[in-house]
Amino acid sequence: TTTKSNTIIEQTQKFGANNYHPLPIVIAKAEGVWVESPEGNKFMDMLSAYSAVNQGHRHPKIIQALKDQADKVTLTSRAFHSDQLGPWYEKVSKLTNKNMVLPMNTGAEAVETALKAARRWGYDVKGIAEDQAEIIACIGNFHGRTMGAVSLSSDPEYKRGFGPMLPGINLIPYGDLEALKAAITPNTAAFLIEPIQGEAGIIIPPEGFLKAASDLCKANNVLFIADEIQAGLARTGKMFACDWEEVTPDMLILGKALGGGVFPISCVVANSDVLGVFNPGSHGSTFGGNPLACAVSVAALEVIEEEKLAERSLELGEYFLNQLKAIDNPMIKEVRGRGLFIGVELTEEARPYCEQLKEEGLLCKETHDTVIRFAPPLIISKEEIDWPLRKFKRY
Ligand code: PLP
Repeated sequence: TTTKSNTIIEQTQKFGANNYHPLPIVIAKAEGVWVESPEGNKFMDMLSAYSAVNQGHRHPKIIQALKDQADKVTLTSRAFHSDQLGPWYEKVSKLTNKNMVLPMNTGAEAVETALKAARRWGYDVKGIAEDQAEIIACIGNFHGRTMGAVSLSSDPEYKRGFGPMLPGINLIPYGDLEALKAAITPNTAAFLIEPIQGEAGIIIPPEGFLKAASDLCKANNVLFIADEIQAGLARTGKMFACDWEEVTPDMLILGKALGGGVFPISCVVANSDVLGVFNPGSHGSTFGGNPLACAVSVAALEVIEEEKLAERSLELGEYFLNQLKAIDNPMIKEVRGRGLFIGVELTEEARPYCEQLKEEGLLCKETHDTVIRFAPPLIISKEEIDWPLRKFKRY
């Protein structure tokens, strides 16, 4: 049938590179937790653009900040100062309790920035011999799609045909303290970890691991870098996922919800003993820290604080998780999560279920074949959460 949606999907497939496999649904409008097709069908968004829309679609305060700033200045480049960068720096610095911030645009770029900072810190501060710096990362990680990020990956499909990879990377099993101990050498500059692995299927590390790993890094003069791009900014029921174990990373990487799903902005934050290794000319980005992104991001962070999204996520997440756990279905292998960051692992492929749920008005995306991720916008109400629960209970 020739619906508007079908025409758009055909056009997308005809002219676009084939690097995604989206569900067959077109979104033309969105508000809060709801999205709408060109035909006017409504769906509840249970993915939140991989946690970029924690504040809900088109949050009025964030959209207002976008419009106001669009009427003033949108881009200066970093060749000049902008009146929006300083206030944004201060906001992010206070939120993270670190004294230096470096803005980029996408998550992967911020990961690249962290790798560069860690390597240079390794040489200039730790005293590692030239070109010998090593980074430890975790099996199953997802840090993005750039060359540095895919070099960190353990997934052959993320790397196939893209070699040679970045050298100096060692992988350990996620959550394995002994393996971390064994992997650290005098040349180790940093340990990079997602405090909860998102793309791997909402994998939570064993209790106490983050704290023990952070202590181990400190004892060995190794930077502990937390990739909080997906798990941070209230998603797991705390402002940062590392807060679950009261861990203070040496470096935090933020993205996604930092721009409220309205404008891309990412960053690396650390103290000046680490990020101070950058000097003019050593790193940058034309759009990094642009006025439009900064204005949007300040509003996006204020929404998280003012609407207590971390507390909401904690409370509603616990409710949602318990209700899901109570569902007696042999197809469900495990239900796990923190806050509204929940994975339901099935005994079989999750994709057909995501397609079926779409027919019922719920947008979810499978991750790693057998896991359905539930990560609705954090502004969701309890009544709205009951709606998908009623649907799952029927399976
Ligand atoms: N790091 C983590 C933990 C992520 O989940 C993602 C995206 O899913 C990225 C990095 C990459 O971010 P981006 O897609 O904005 O480059």
